[in-house]
Amino acid sequence: MKYLIYARKSTDEDDRQILSIEAQLTELKEFASKEGLEIADEFIEAKTAKVPGRPIFNQMIARIEADGPFGILSWHPDRLARNSVDGGKIIYLVDTGKIGGLKFPTFWFDATPQGKFMLNIAFGQSKYYIDNLSENVKRGLRQKLRKGDYPAFAPIGYLNELRHHTIIKDPQRAEIVRKIFQLYSSGKYTFEDLHELSFAMGLAGQRKGKAITLSKIQTLLKNPFYYGLFRFKGELYQGNHEPIISKQLFEKVQRVMQERGKPQKKSLKSYTFKGVFKCGECGRQITAETKIKPSGKTYTYYRCTKKNRVCAQKYISEQNLTQQLNKLFQKVALSVELKNYFLNRWEKDFKDFSTNANASAQNLKAELKIIEAKLNRLLDIYVDQAINREEYAAKKQKLLNRRVEINEEVENFGRKGNVRLGLFKEWILQAFQANSIAESENLEEKRSLLKKIGSDFRITGQKPLISLQNPWSLSAKKAEFISMSG
Ligand SMILES: [Zn+2]
Repeated sequence: MKYLIYARKSTDEDDRQILSIEAQLTELKEFASKEGLEIADEFIEAKTAKVPGRPIFNQMIARIEADGPFGILSWHPDRLARNSVDGGKIIYLVDTGKIGGLKFPTFWFDATPQGKFMLNIAFGQSKYYIDNLSENVKRGLRQKLRKGDYPAFAPIGYLNELRHHTIIKDPQRAEIVRKIFQLYSSGKYTFEDLHELSFAMGLAGQRKGKAITLSKIQTLLKNPFYYGLFRFKGELYQGNHEPIISKQLFEKVQRVMQERGKPQKKSLKSYTFKGVFKCGECGRQITAETKIKPSGKTYTYYRCTKKNRVCAQKYISEQNLTQQLNKLFQKVALSVELKNYFLNRWEKDFKDFSTNANASAQNLKAELKIIEAKLNRLLDIYVDQAINREEYAAKKQKLLNRRVEINEEVENFGRKGNVRLGLFKEWILQAFQANSIAESENLEEKRSLLKKIGSDFRITGQKPLISLQNPWSLSAKKAEFISMSG
């Protein structure tokens, strides 16, 4: 495909800063040879582009319509058009394939809906940006937003799919993004931790492959795009892209972030059981420290902080503590037989539940239909200017959030039953897993299991004391439990 060069400079006030036609031509030819573009013809004009009816421009369009496809090479989109008629003509010819490419040394164009949207802005008065867009463009944009097309570059974890003009999951990065949300929601990781981890996991920026910045991690964790909505000019829209995480997880992350208030300096993980136990004698925190033996070996100890108070408790080595915890884990663990017994019970309960849940799911689906209708009506009311922008945005956000919630509820019904059944099954599997956690060397796993099975963790006389939670307290007395439920 050959390219047509179009250069223009008028006596308009706006054009005073623009390169002379000579300079434009020189730059464009240099650009063409660098990019390997073959030039078929040059079109040079000294007229304003604010109103339709430039003779040379029209000649070029006629040539394209007759002998296209051609590409166009111009200094900037505002050289080609500064009114919606000529701008629309160009975009129409791009859409119909008569214009096979648009190249500008000062403007990056790509034939996606977003690219065309940006081009349309460039054709208009870019100074006033969106406020001065013609009503046509606004309507087109509204249409796109209603369809759920995100009119910008895809956030990290997604890619702009150029052929179908959609946003798709990035096969490499989506999983890492999900992991970052999960890790942060556990409350054990700081932004700094995740920043380091993200690079280790291979989450580099899309363009230059550089590590993403610390502040990007925070922005990422606040972006509703990942659960299916998107924000555009301060308003929330339902996207048509596939979510990477659930709304539940997103909200959990927002809660953790709020609780933290600000990023913490130190990692919480340097001593596995630090901050978990309290002293059984004086109630102070149990802290941790490392000691180096004359042999050069290092040992971790846990002891009462004893701040401003007399306390007779001795320290306990991490090894000793771990061994005692392992015994506790074995005590609450389920054997294979018990695991299977409970799984069978769970399945029966699940079947009963599903029958009842079907009815509830029908109700939710009915509510979904009502929300759809309300959303459509709301847009009509807004377009008719019966309500203002703020009212519209607030009402829409409420409806969209409810829609996401319902969709998740419906899915939950289908997938894993209600929360109680989910927790029951989770417990069966965790209690079975407790066997291998007792045997493993992984302290992090032990810490997380410990937090699940009990509360009020204390150390007295070098012995950990834990008040077990249901159903873990029951599984600690397995024999009774079996006869009770059997
Ligand atoms: Zn103490």
